[in-house]
Amino acid sequence: MEILKQFYSNEKAKQTLVNFITDGRLPHALLLEGEAGCGKTHFARLAACAMLCQSEQKPCGQCRNCRLILQDTHPDVLVVSPDSPEKPYAVSALRDLIVSCYVLPNDGDKKIYILRNIHEMSEQAQNTLLKIIEEPPAHVLFILTCQSRARILPTILSRVVTLTLSPCSEELCAQALQERNPEADEETCLRMAKQCGGNIGRALTIMQDERLSSIHSDAQEAAQLICGGSEFDLLCLLNRYNRKKEDFLLLLEELRQIFVQVVRQKHGATDKKFLPDKLLHRISALQTMRILDIIDTVSGEALQNVAVSLAAAHLCSAVQQQLHS
Ligand SMILES: [Zn+2]
Repeated sequence: MEILKQFYSNEKAKQTLVNFITDGRLPHALLLEGEAGCGKTHFARLAACAMLCQSEQKPCGQCRNCRLILQDTHPDVLVVSPDSPEKPYAVSALRDLIVSCYVLPNDGDKKIYILRNIHEMSEQAQNTLLKIIEEPPAHVLFILTCQSRARILPTILSRVVTLTLSPCSEELCAQALQERNPEADEETCLRMAKQCGGNIGRALTIMQDERLSSIHSDAQEAAQLICGGSEFDLLCLLNRYNRKKEDFLLLLEELRQIFVQVVRQKHGATDKKFLPDKLLHRISALQTMRILDIIDTVSGEALQNVAVSLAAAHLCSAVQQQLHS
């Protein structure tokens, strides 16, 4: 149980998992839904531990099975990611995976397949997966993850138990960042936690990558310049990305994320603050939506080989027109 307590927030999902274990009613397929970075794969490993744990208090995190699962070396727990070079979500690869399901477990009486991000499967691939989820061999359990159930076939959804995971509070996120980066100062951890809306995985990725970290803080600055109506300063900032198209696209994506959250903040959908109040009140919800459109248009231009300097100039003039027309 201790290792489950160490998973931040998400009490409902944890309690549901514990109930399944104590009642001995394990669903043969579990779907974990949540935004990228919120801990779905980690939770999937904890669920696998709970399913195979050899102790009274499951998951203990200490027994042989738990340890091997957490180290990703358990012979009967297979973690499959769509980004691996073998293209595991190609229909032919999925058919091979289905065949492997019928092979008995090495160690105990169960075999667990953790399939990450199944929203990246094509419809045909999801239909192939459906075949085994409908009638799996008795020794097989599936733990699937996805960013949104809207991208999963209803026929799959009707065969799985879905648990939704969410990022935690900013305070808990900051605490987690501090634990994992003892050398980082408290203020930085809290700032990152706020900027990432409590998403631990996302904040960690940014903190551990200098390039991403600098793009991330530029995006924060750009968002404030946009709302503050400082187009000239915005243009100067964007010009640092001249001839660095990949970074420019990442910057636009970060900027997009910020304004998506601002839209949510405007509609009261989140108590988290992505922009300081004084800037938030300077743009309307409608203007925020239009800024999102501008960001999408400019990203499209940059992708289609428009020079970064021109795309940046377009962004600044479109924003200016939008906010001062
Ligand atoms: Zn255990």
